[in-house]
Amino acid sequence: MNYYKVDPLPYRYGDLEPFIDEKTMRIHHDKHHEGYAKKLNDAISSWDSFPKVPISKLLSEIERIPSDIRTSVVNNGGGHAHHALFWVMMAPNSGVPEDGKFIDELNKTFGNIDDFENKFTEAALKQFGSGWAWLVVSSDKKLEIVKTSNQDSPYSEGLAPILGIDVWEHAYYLNYQNKRDEYIKAWWNVVNWEKVEELYERSVK
Ligand code: MN
Repeated sequence: MNYYKVDPLPYRYGDLEPFIDEKTMRIHHDKHHEGYAKKLNDAISSWDSFPKVPISKLLSEIERIPSDIRTSVVNNGGGHAHHALFWVMMAPNSGVPEDGKFIDELNKTFGNIDDFENKFTEAALKQFGSGWAWLVVSSDKKLEIVKTSNQDSPYSEGLAPILGIDVWEHAYYLNYQNKRDEYIKAWWNVVNWEKVEELYERSVK
């Protein structure tokens, strides 16, 4: 079964340069993300009553996954879901929205955009080893910053991710080596705020 598929990037591989280099994008999207999707599809191939649901739904109800494939589906399904989000949460040119419901809530929760970026950066730096930092909408519609290990998913904790940064070394090592801080600082230049705002509005409906 080949149920879950990797979408092409919505921009060219080199479009996020100089912040994220083309070679990293090619390997990350075509090899790493494709690898997660393939292993996810392999894992679900033995699941007779596999419910054909979006990966976010599958990860939000992991107790429904047969126990013999659960770890593989969580790891590779998380990898697939998170990377699919990561590509569209970045864009070559997207400014911070100047007004609206999302930015009002962000300011209300974190003080202002700079304070938010500092707190989020701190979470991304403090994630020990592989993982992600996220801005999520909780079940009571509040904004929160969380970090997750490996490919454990915010979806599995009832949280809706609206912005995330991949801090696995494969996301930055070619260009930034051990300097995760420099990668994170550069990444802020390619955050697709329009998409974040859209995901926020969808989550609070
Ligand atoms: Mn990755």
